[in-house]
Amino acid sequence: MNFSTKAIHVGQEPDSTTGAVIPPIYQNSTYAQIGIGEHKGYRYSRLENPTRSALETCIAALENGRYGLAFASGLAAEQAVLSLCRPGDHIVACDDLYGGTYRLFEHIMQHNNVETSYVRANATADYEKAIRPNTKLLWLETPTNPLLRVIDIWAVAELAHRHKVLLVVDNTFATPYFQQPLDLGADMVVHSTTKYINGHSDVIGGMIVMKDADLYQNIQFYQGTAGAIPGPFDAWLTLRGVKTLAVRMRQHAENADAIAGFLSEHPLVEKIYYPGLPSHPDHELAKRQMNGFGGMVSFQVKGTLDDVNKIVRRFKIFTFGASLGGVESLVCHPASMTHRTTPPEIREAHGLTDTLLRLSVGIEDSRDLLSDLNQALA
Ligand code: PLP
Repeated sequence: MNFSTKAIHVGQEPDSTTGAVIPPIYQNSTYAQIGIGEHKGYRYSRLENPTRSALETCIAALENGRYGLAFASGLAAEQAVLSLCRPGDHIVACDDLYGGTYRLFEHIMQHNNVETSYVRANATADYEKAIRPNTKLLWLETPTNPLLRVIDIWAVAELAHRHKVLLVVDNTFATPYFQQPLDLGADMVVHSTTKYINGHSDVIGGMIVMKDADLYQNIQFYQGTAGAIPGPFDAWLTLRGVKTLAVRMRQHAENADAIAGFLSEHPLVEKIYYPGLPSHPDHELAKRQMNGFGGMVSFQVKGTLDDVNKIVRRFKIFTFGASLGGVESLVCHPASMTHRTTPPEIREAHGLTDTLLRLSVGIEDSRDLLSDLNQALA
């Protein structure tokens, strides 16, 4: 089965009792069991729920994995992966990360005596230098948030496995439509399904996908025990969103490409970050590793923070707000929003300046988006 067919059908066969074409919302906490130790695969909805199972099965298939586990948010999914770490373990991560992931590493894991070292995102060989005997996980986000660097998953997987370290890839920006990290050697993929997978800015959710049965059992135990699961209605909404993932991603990428072209010639733009531009330092790698360049475009404005503040107030179609991946276009100021808790010296060192804006290009008519950008920058 190919991608769009899987998105619409896997895990979503017509309901066996009624024939309903769309999986029902199983809004129940418990299930009638047959006898002691005998049941129909469902006992209590923290542990198993058919609507959630449908979502887990579908996303696992889209990532070419064997197992999926859904969570109440992207960060809850990340925390479940991090439950594999014990005090004294070590993590190696890329240096351009979603601010919330950085916060999780520095403010939660650090307190549990799990230290994280950061490596310049696309400096592949440096990941190996950062590995220590106690390194448990290597954590990548590619394309990175918000600077859209691209990391060579295949090369990093090879070095991680030589050192018996598990490779985790946050695939939120690319989605399985454009990039399939498990096929490139990653052990686990994590998602904020809040973003493109759901795609309509109306649900918070997360997902982990893997091929290995032992990893699955470990994390499934954590999911049922710690309990940060999505409710059945959120699982159902996400499943409805994912059906159109392929068509949405094609349009996001087409619109982003037009906007990147426009911004790269604009006199007020100091620097542009979009892996689809031949001038992007990782463009060749992106062409090899991804089937498309995604819908995110970041750019640095020539001017001051005040100028940037004036620009964001002028947008009429782009909404000034955090998050990404919805059908509507958003503009975000990472330094004060998504990355506000990352220390300023670390932000600046990565190139995440106060004048950087990040666009989540939606699927509106690209002519309207271009004219909105034009008037906001005028
Ligand atoms: N990973 C990335 C790349 C993100 O951008 C985000 C949120 O913006 C997350 C993870 C966290 O997801 P959530 O907000 O669903 O907890």
